[in-house]
Formats: sequence, C-alpha cells, structure tokens
Amino acid sequence: MSSLVWFRRDLRVHDNSALYHACKESDEVVGLFVFTPEQWKQHDDADAKISFWIENLRCLSDELDDLNIPLIIRSCDSFAETPKLVVETAEEHNCSKLFFNREYEVNEHHRDAVVIESAQASDIEVTSYHDRIIVPPREIETKEGKFYSVFTPYRKVWDTKALDFAKVLRKPTARNSIDVKADSVPDSIAGFDFSNDRADLWKPGEAEAKKRLKKFVDRIDDYDEARDVPSQTGTSLLSPYLNAGVISPRQCLAAALKHNDGNITGSEGATTWISELTWRDFYTHVMVGFPRVSRHHPFKKKTEGIPWRYAEDDFQAWCEGRTGYPIVDAGMRQLNQTGWMHNRLRMVTAMFLTKNLLIDWRWGEKYFMQKLVDGDLAANNGGWQWSASTGTDSVPYFRIFNPFSQSKRFDVDGTFIKKLCPELEAVPSSALHDQKKLAAALEKHDVDYPAFVVDYKAGRERALEAFKSL
Ligand SMILES: Cc1cc2nc3c(=O)[nH]c(=O)nc-3n(C[C@H](O)[C@H](O)[C@H](O)COP(=O)(O)OP(=O)(O)OC[C@H]3O[C@@H](n4cnc5c(N)ncnc54)[C@H](O)[C@@H]3O)c2cc1C
Repeated sequence: MSSLVWFRRDLRVHDNSALYHACKESDEVVGLFVFTPEQWKQHDDADAKISFWIENLRCLSDELDDLNIPLIIRSCDSFAETPKLVVETAEEHNCSKLFFNREYEVNEHHRDAVVIESAQASDIEVTSYHDRIIVPPREIETKEGKFYSVFTPYRKVWDTKALDFAKVLRKPTARNSIDVKADSVPDSIAGFDFSNDRADLWKPGEAEAKKRLKKFVDRIDDYDEARDVPSQTGTSLLSPYLNAGVISPRQCLAAALKHNDGNITGSEGATTWISELTWRDFYTHVMVGFPRVSRHHPFKKKTEGIPWRYAEDDFQAWCEGRTGYPIVDAGMRQLNQTGWMHNRLRMVTAMFLTKNLLIDWRWGEKYFMQKLVDGDLAANNGGWQWSASTGTDSVPYFRIFNPFSQSKRFDVDGTFIKKLCPELEAVPSSALHDQKKLAAALEKHDVDYPAFVVDYKAGRERALEAFKSL
C-alpha cells in the first residue's frame, strides 16, 4: 500500500518530517496540496504570499518528481471541505497511510482534527509531526505546568531543550515509480492578483533558500549590529521561506550552531540570530497556550478598554506611507512595494499607528497580513501586540518610539528614507530627524511631501492618557 503526504506550509524535500517518515514506511508515495482560496481570503493572506507559495509549489513538484512522488493538486473553497478531499485522494490512490506536519493556528488545528477523524473512519492511519518550529509548543512549560508568557524565562528553558530537537533530516531517496501523473501547478487563482508580485526579490525554491542561508551565515557575526539598519542587508531575508516551509527552522539553527562550534551561545551575531528563531518559536507557543490572541483579542484583557480611534483618513495615510513622518512613510512604502518590511520599521510603523494615531492594532495587523509575503499569524500578532502594549511581554505603554529619534539612530544619513521617499532627496539628512527642521526644509526646497498626520507631542500625550485611564 502507498502513503499520502499532505503538504501545507512545508514546501520542501529536505528536513521534512512527514515526507521523511512516509518514505521510510512506504516504497510508493503520493504528495498532495490542497488550495483553499476562500479560506486564504478569510485569513487575509496576501496576493504576494499566495503567489510565492505557488511558485514554490512548482519547485516542490519538480523535486518530488525526481523522487518518483507525483504531486496531486486539489482545490476547495474552505477548510470545512478539506477533510473529505484529503480522504478521497488517499482512497483514490490506495493510500492506507496519511502523513502531515502540524499547523497550530485555531482553524488549521480544527481542520486537522476533522481530517484525522474522517481518515480513521476510512481505515487510513494518520501520523502527524511537530515540524514548524524548533521546540514543539508543549515541550516548554513553567514549574506549574503552564505556558510561559514572558520571553526571557522561556528562552532559558528553550536553550536547554533546543539541541534535542535540532537534528536535520536528510532528503529521502527515490521511491518506486508509480502510474500516477502529477498535476500541473496553476498560474493563477481566482480572487488573487499576482500582477504585482515581486518574484525578482523572492526567487522560489529550496536551492534559493539554502543559498540565502549560506550567504547570511558568512556575515552572521555582524548581525547583532547590522540587523537594525534598514539601508543594509543585515538580516537573513529568510522569513518568506521559513513561513512557506521552503527551509526549516532546524536547518537555520543547524547553520548557526555550526558557526558557533555547536553551541547556542558564541559569536554575538549568531547568538542574537538564534534568539530571533526563539522569538519565532515563542510566538507560536503563545498562540497555542493562549488561543484568544489569534481570535482578535489582546493578551492583556485589561487593554480591551483602550478607547481606540477608528479614523479612516489617518489609517489610509498610514497605509499609503503619507503620514509626513519620513521613517514611517519609508517603512510603509517598503511594505507596499516589496511585500516585506525590515523588522525595525515593523516596530516603528506599528507603534506609530497604535500610539501616535491611537488606532486599533487589529487594523494594522490585518493590513500587514494583506501585504506581507511572510505573513504569519503568530509572529504578526505577536509583533503587533508587542508594539501596541497589549501583548505578552510587550513594550511598556509609556515607552513610545519617537520616529525622529529612530531614524536618527538607524538611518542617520537618510539613505533608506530617500530611497523610498525620493521626493525628499533635496532635504538635508539632519532635517529628516527633526520635526521643526523638516517643516522648514520642505518649505525652503519647495518639496511636495504630506503634512504631519498628527502632531507628535499631542499624539503621544493622547496615547499616554488612554493607557493611564485603564
Ligand atoms: C508588527 C510586526 C509584525 C511582524 N509580522 C511578521 C510576520 O507576519 N511574519 C514573520 O515571519 N515575522 C513577522 N515579524 C517579525 C520580524 O519582523 C520578521 O520575522 C523579520 O523582519 C523577517 O526578516 P528576516 O527573515 O530577514 O529576519 P532575521 O532577522 O534574519 O530573523 C530570522 C528569522 O527569525 C524569525 N524572526 C525574526 N524576528 C522575529 C520576531 N520578532 N518575531 C518572530 N519571529 C522572528 C523570522 O522567521 C526570521 O525570518 C513582525 C514583527 C513586527 C514588529
């Protein structure tokens, strides 16, 4: 009998737990991917992200073909119809075993529970694996057996466990050839617009992801300093690949460990990067432990009472990079133009929206998801709730980033700002980091640049009052 491997956000053949074990158990293996466009829309998945998935699916299909594993593609509107489709596909191809890697979001988890039930009712044996993060969610708990909600103690335990989960699985060897034809991967999906995808920036495939990892590790020692400077390529640019599972977090950890002679701590840069992989694990841990965060609720229940503003015009100015604050506008334009935003700017723009404009973090969270090529519920929600001071271990509400100090610190010569806001070319760099000087320089050089959407001081005071009133 054959085995069916159901691929989801694990579009790779190397270090793929479900694929590896299916191949260990069966000489004949079939792959499956299910399109659920309505569900993706409901989840606000970005055009850029779905386009990236499809291109990677094409690469995966080729890789699987070399292993004599045909990739079947099925489509249904939503997760509700998926279990029937998965079971039918298994039966159609005489697969008595089903393998997949777990997904932890609420809807995905529920879908998988129904799949397991339906498959077992049809005598199909199901095996699922923890594969998406390094240390599985329930492996780390407090002394009282609860989920951690603060990063530092979580990280301490993570450090003691990570090496146990760091083993990278090899690519399986070719299976027996079977008389099943792979489906062709579609070029388009109704409801999604791929005309603005940036395939030039996000080349698909495992080989590309590995190349990026290798190039990054060559400069990993500089990461702790370079990672905050948006005009430099100081970070790995691997988030879309990690999110689609084109590379695994274990492969990333292994590369950093190798650089650190097998240790979690060592070079400052590598240690800091491992910390970011830990944040990735942590936010998934939080999502599993406190599912309300993925149901549009703040982690800190008290913050439900914040009198958020629902100011459409201000929100639109933020979305379009027209706030009058150069570093905020540059960040938003980077997102709109590339589907990705530098981490420092994700924090700056998110804090600007939720504090200076006092607009509900859920509006920003949704907008990011609709644009990001790496949009990930756990990391995005974690980042937004951190910035809005509503989340686990979030920034204290009174520590509001000043956009001018941020750009002075991280884009002192204005290279990044001027690249994304070319209309500011004539403005001297020092004026980009000061509200009064900027206004004067715009006047002097007759620059057509948006007026401040909010006065910095007034917006800050309003946010402090709102949080103090809780
Ligand atoms: C408001 C906000 C929203 C965010 N939304 C997302 C999102 O939807 N998807 C996403 O992958 N990341 C998100 N992040 C985290 C972070 O900004 C990105 O992971 C990072 O910018 C990706 O670039 P990189 O691959 O070059 O990262 P690197 O610095 O090279 O880090 C390596 C990997 O670690 C993980 N990582 C790094 N920082 C974080 C973090 N703070 N939280 C969780 N994981 C992290 C990512 O998988 C990343 O690819 C968000 C952060 C904020 C503040």
